[in-house]
Amino acid sequence: MKKTLYAFLLFALASSAAAGSFEQLRDGLELPSAPVPFLEAEASAQYLQGDSRYWVTVMAGDKYDRTGLLEAGLDIVEIGKDTVSGFIEKTEMEQLAAKGFIVKSRQAIQEYAKKHLKDFPAADAVYHNYQETLDELKGLAAANPGETSLFSIGRTIEGRDIWCLRINPAEKGETPSARPAAFFMGNHHAREHLSNEVALALAAHLLARKAEPEIKKYLETLDIYIAPLTNPDGAEYDIQTGKYRWHRKNTRVNADKTIGVDLNRNYDSLWCQAGSSHYPSADTYCGPYAFSEPETQAVRNFVEARKNLKTLMSYHSYSSLLLYPWAGKAVPVENGKDRKVFEAMAKGMTAFTGYKPEQSSDLYVATGDTTDWAYAARGIFSFTTELEGTTFYPGAAMIEKAAAKNIKAAVYLLSVTDDPYKLAQ
Ligand SMILES: [Zn+2]
Repeated sequence: MKKTLYAFLLFALASSAAAGSFEQLRDGLELPSAPVPFLEAEASAQYLQGDSRYWVTVMAGDKYDRTGLLEAGLDIVEIGKDTVSGFIEKTEMEQLAAKGFIVKSRQAIQEYAKKHLKDFPAADAVYHNYQETLDELKGLAAANPGETSLFSIGRTIEGRDIWCLRINPAEKGETPSARPAAFFMGNHHAREHLSNEVALALAAHLLARKAEPEIKKYLETLDIYIAPLTNPDGAEYDIQTGKYRWHRKNTRVNADKTIGVDLNRNYDSLWCQAGSSHYPSADTYCGPYAFSEPETQAVRNFVEARKNLKTLMSYHSYSSLLLYPWAGKAVPVENGKDRKVFEAMAKGMTAFTGYKPEQSSDLYVATGDTTDWAYAARGIFSFTTELEGTTFYPGAAMIEKAAAKNIKAAVYLLSVTDDPYKLAQ
């Protein structure tokens, strides 16, 4: 958000508060801060009204409990020793006891928002909304015409392009390449804005250091793709009112009028068999069928058209984890050589981030995610990074911190993309 825009927002807030309630002003000023495309909506009392989700903490001792809770519609955000916490629709929450779960505490999302955004830094303006993300990508492409191409891999439900920056001085646009390829993605989940920032920072880093020997080597030998904003509709929806909505999914209007399909449960890998929900209102709703969403179709088509892809990184937030397949079944990757590669890559990357490397299903079983599909369908060594922080909205200062270490991890991933199997020797 531009400074002038921000000043206007403050003015708008102050005016609306003068006419309206003091509470509105308080919340508005102390709340965030992400780019605000629709100022006229800012003062609207609609913010989070009609959102019937609760933040709950439920007893859950192991991954089987956690998987069961995902299926019951709980969007697991935090995992404690004997509990998990996250968002759940009211109607689904009311069924938890009947399903044998013990709800330790619960709080309407409106209450949760008040409490958790209370101390937010005034400005997250440094975060990039859709237009600013595109401007940043265009800027990088314009400044590095010899090394980059920028193209859309497909359109969202609302018609936004999903932009992808290619870094490859030898092959441009959508020309196929025989070079080993790496694909970095951010923001499958709307509210995980930090993941967009990390992917953007990676692109900027590689191009700023394109003359340095190590980076130069990767630019000369690899085919690198970065799509920072996979779910732009959701990301815009999350910030549309000027206040965060904790929105996770895309913006599909479901048959029951609820909003969104969970893109990271919509891939065709044991689709919707475990750890995802058939309830359209659930945050982990898998959609009516696998690849029902234009966003996941775009990723599928992109990946399927590039047989040279060797590695894939999907950035999410938050938990300080590095996850690898399987997510959808509670067994290790069957191919021993592949398993060795996954473990070695995970170790290599977490040496830089300090995150915990883990097979995804050790956390909970969840089917239909990007990484299981990319590995199962295409043999790509695919990872999910859960960036650091203790909230989806960790403020501006977190960007540099998370980006610095994750860029190092990404550069490590590039260093093994030429031949992942060298790690199995
Ligand atoms: Zn996520």
